[in-house]
Amino acid sequence: MTDLFLFRNDLRLRDNPGLAYHAEASALLCVYIHEPVRPWCNTLGPGTQRKRFLQESLVHLQQQLRSLGQELLVLEGDSRRLLPDLLEGFGIQRLGMAESAGVYEQRLFEDLRQRLDIPVVAHRGNTLFSNRQLENLLPELPPHYTPFRQAVAGTSHDPAQAQPILPPPPGGVQAATLVPEASAPNPAFIVRGGQLQGERRLHDWLSRERAIDHYRETRNQLEGLYASSALSPWLANGCLSVRTVADAVSDYESRHGVSDSSEHFRSELLWREFFYWRAHREGYHLFRPGGAGGKRQMCCFEPRSFARWCAGDTDYPLVNALMHQLVECGWMSNRGRQIAASCLVNEMGVDWRFGAAFFEKHLLDYDVASNYANWQYIAGVGADPRGGRHFDLEKQTALYDPDGVFIGRWGGKRPKQPKHVVDAADWPIETPTAPLP
Ligand code: FAD
Repeated sequence: MTDLFLFRNDLRLRDNPGLAYHAEASALLCVYIHEPVRPWCNTLGPGTQRKRFLQESLVHLQQQLRSLGQELLVLEGDSRRLLPDLLEGFGIQRLGMAESAGVYEQRLFEDLRQRLDIPVVAHRGNTLFSNRQLENLLPELPPHYTPFRQAVAGTSHDPAQAQPILPPPPGGVQAATLVPEASAPNPAFIVRGGQLQGERRLHDWLSRERAIDHYRETRNQLEGLYASSALSPWLANGCLSVRTVADAVSDYESRHGVSDSSEHFRSELLWREFFYWRAHREGYHLFRPGGAGGKRQMCCFEPRSFARWCAGDTDYPLVNALMHQLVECGWMSNRGRQIAASCLVNEMGVDWRFGAAFFEKHLLDYDVASNYANWQYIAGVGADPRGGRHFDLEKQTALYDPDGVFIGRWGGKRPKQPKHVVDAADWPIETPTAPLP
C-alpha cells in the first residue's frame, strides 16, 4: 500500500501518531502544502519572524526525513487541487493528516474525504488527551476552564511515542532542497524552528536551568529567556508534542518533587488543551465578534486606531514597547499579550478580531485555538465567567516595568501628540434624530 502523509502543524517525527500510523505502508509520500493566504481583518499573510520559524522547521524536517531515506515534498497552492494530482501520479491508496482545531482545516479534511475515492484519515497528535480519553466529557464540554480542569484531573494521557521506522518514498519523488529564510531571529529572542531545537529548549529550560522551579514567580515577567518555558513556538508548529513536554515534566517531578510551580505549569498546558477542544467544538463561532454566545459588543472598526496599535504608536508607552517587541521578535510574553489586547479592546474600542489577526500574522507560536480563544477571553465574549478583562495600564506598567527598562529597550515612548480626535466622518455613529441646537 502507498500512503500520503500531509504534514500540517505537526512538523516532527517523534510522537507523531499520524506519521506512525502511515509508517506501516509499504511506501510513503511525505508532503507539506503552503495554502494560499487570504486577507483577513486588514492583514495579509505571516510576518517575517513567523515565516522564518516555519521555514526552519520545514528545513529541519526535510533533513531528518532524508537522513532516514525519506523525502519531504513542499508545495504551494490549494490542497484541494494539488492533492488529487499527487494521488494519481504516485498511485496513492490512503491519505492521512493531523486533525486541527481550526474550522477551515477541518473543512478541508471533510472536503477531501468526500471528494476522494480513497480512505482519508485524520489523526489526533497535538493534544494531551485523545477523543477516547475524553469521551464522557466531550458531549457536554464545560464552557469554562475550571470545571474542565477538575473533570480531567484524574485522566492520564498516553505516553509519547518513539520515532517510527519509515518506509521509503514511492519511486520518482523529486523534492527541491529547502533553504532557510534569509532573515535571522532577533537577538532578544533567539529561537529557531525544528524538532531538535525544541527538544534542546525543553532540556535547557527544564533540566539544565531547572527554571520550572521558579516558573510560578517569574511567568508574568515581560522578558527573560527563563521567565517562562518559551516552548509555545515549537508546540504550535508541532515540532514538539505536548505529551513529550508533559512526560518530561513528570520525569522531572519524579526526581525533584512536585512543586507549586510545576503544578502551575501543568495547569497552563491544560489551558491549551481546554482552548483546543472548545475551538474544535465552536467552529466558526471562534471568529464571530460575539463568540459562541453571540454577545453584542460595543465596538467598531476605526482604521487609524488599529493602525496606531499595530505600529506601537498609542498613548500607552508599555503597549507601544510590546507591539515593537512582537513585530521584531515574533514574540510577546503572556502578560504582555493580555496588556496589549486589553488596550485594543478596552481603551481603543476596536473589534478584538483585528487584534487577533495581527497576532496571527506575527506570533511565532500562532495557534488558532489559543490565539482566538484568548482574545475572546479578554474581550468578554469567550470562556471567561467574569465576562472580560480590563487591565489598568498604569498599574500594569508600575508592576511589570517600574523603572521603564522594557519601555526603553523597545522604544515605547512616543513624542507628545495633538489629541487624537475621531469625528462623524469616520465613525459610524447614529445620526441624531432631533435637530441639534
Ligand atoms: P508557559 O507559560 O511556559 O506555558 C507553557 C505552555 O502552556 C505554553 O507554551 C502554551 O502551550 C500553554 N499556555 C500557557 N498559557 C496559555 C494560555 N493562556 N492559553 C493557551 N495555552 C497556554 N498561545 C499560543 O500558543 N498561541 C497563540 O497564538 C496565543 N495567542 C494568545 C493571544 C492572547 C491575546 C493571549 C492573552 C494569550 C495567547 N496565547 C497564545 C497564550 C499564552 O500567552 C502563550 O501560550 C504563552 O505566553 C507562551 O509562552 P510560554 O511557552 O513561555 O508559556
